[in-house]
Amino acid sequence: MTDISDILEKAKAEGRNYLLEPEAKEIIARYGIPVTKIKVGKDLDEVLKYAGEIGYPVVLKIVSPDVIHKSDIGGVKINLRNKAEVERAYKEIIAATKRFKPDARIVGVLVQEFVPQGTEIIIGVSKDPQFGPTIMFGLGGIFVEILEDVSFRIIPITRRDAKEMISEIKGYKVLMGARGRETCDIEAIINALLSVSKLAWEHQEIKELDLNPIEVYSKGLKVVDARIVLEG
Ligand code: ADP
Ligand code: MG
Repeated sequence: MTDISDILEKAKAEGRNYLLEPEAKEIIARYGIPVTKIKVGKDLDEVLKYAGEIGYPVVLKIVSPDVIHKSDIGGVKINLRNKAEVERAYKEIIAATKRFKPDARIVGVLVQEFVPQGTEIIIGVSKDPQFGPTIMFGLGGIFVEILEDVSFRIIPITRRDAKEMISEIKGYKVLMGARGRETCDIEAIINALLSVSKLAWEHQEIKELDLNPIEVYSKGLKVVDARIVLEG
């Protein structure tokens, strides 16, 4: 059992059942799933320092327990190529958050590497009243939102379940490199599904988990955004 109790305890102590993106990413990283490099800056100076350490281009995102859908309120700025762009984005993000909710608690601004586009997938966990934790897989964007092209299994899953979850969606051809796209690293997706299943099985206090999006490449993948909601 991988120890993530320090992160869960901190959220509980602060009366939160919602884990912030850096916390959720730390948890899934401990389960062996590749995530973007991240650092939380408390002010502009720290954010600029971390941007330099991570290397341009970077992405900035608001870290606030009051902001769940970050880009909806203008809390995400991508592909920032230099200090001037980071400074402007930082100010815009703070202003947008205050416009959205004047008393929003701002933990800081998350700096992360800007990852190249691959094929977007999503992995989710939710609790079924009858079957307990279930895992969902699908392609990102319109495939999930409009076409509802997803597969589900009850947790825990086997390697064979993971393979079937991937191959049974209609969009499987997209993963296999239809129309000149590069073939996705299916083995990396299988491993990510198994790791998420293990995490949700070992920590039943997780009520919802949402990795959306994950960029998949011909070799490897990277989680770009992560959300976890705890019971209670
Ligand atoms: P939200 O809380 O709105 O879901 P996300 O963290 O998912 O915020 O960011 C919104 C979008 O910005 C993502 O769906 C992705 O397209 C893009 N994005 C976010 N982080 C990165 C990153 N590190 N590299 C490249 N694109 C990113
Ligand atoms: Mg997202």
